[in-house]
Amino acid sequence: MGPPGSGKGTLSSLCVRQPGWNQVSTGNLCRNHIQSNTDIGKKIKAVIDSGDLVSDEIIADMIQEWMLLHKGTLQNVILDGYPRTKKQAELLYDLLNNVNQDLQLMLITFQVDTDVLVHRILSRVICSNKECQLTYSLAQDSAKAFCNECNAPLFKRVDDTKDRLKNRIDLYYQNEKGIVDFFVNKGVSIKMINGDRPIQDVFTDFNKLIEQK
Ligand code: AMP
Repeated sequence: MGPPGSGKGTLSSLCVRQPGWNQVSTGNLCRNHIQSNTDIGKKIKAVIDSGDLVSDEIIADMIQEWMLLHKGTLQNVILDGYPRTKKQAELLYDLLNNVNQDLQLMLITFQVDTDVLVHRILSRVICSNKECQLTYSLAQDSAKAFCNECNAPLFKRVDDTKDRLKNRIDLYYQNEKGIVDFFVNKGVSIKMINGDRPIQDVFTDFNKLIEQK
């Protein structure tokens, strides 16, 4: 868990290069629906563009569908940007308990100052290939236009603007405590990562946390 721009997606993209790791990003699933113009995509486009949260029911259906599709191949799964409300945390907990009562959950929260988040998000561009969706920073290379991995064009997300970002960061902090408290009460291991460092350092810390579990 972490506010927008805290590095969840970038860390996940490093993790999934390791064998046996999987990532599911509900933000990516939502954008896939919009890009493919599905019924869900039509329903959620305005919500996402405004920086609000998609309904818990729609998100729960997406996650359930993803789990079913990947059943049997799931080992270490990173839930990136999910759960984002206490209700989603409850639904997730029930869903996982139905699948396997021995699953080990770990919740990692990213700590990053808001001015750093704003700087990162306002310079962020994203790969337009929906199977990829890697992110890049124009602060590092202002002429960057194509993805290193798949060569697809990069674009700026419509919700990565100053006013929408404020809404998204506020929503994150309004929901964070409720979710963390829910998992604390369930005995889930909760860890923190300082996300205001180079991503390789964050990755090293992440691997240490996983080893400690
Ligand atoms: P992200 O790519 O994680 O920043 O998500 C982009 C947008 O997708 C968010 O601002 C929400 O509108 C929507 N979204 C993604 N994940 C969730 C979620 N778990 N619950 C509700 N809305 C979500």
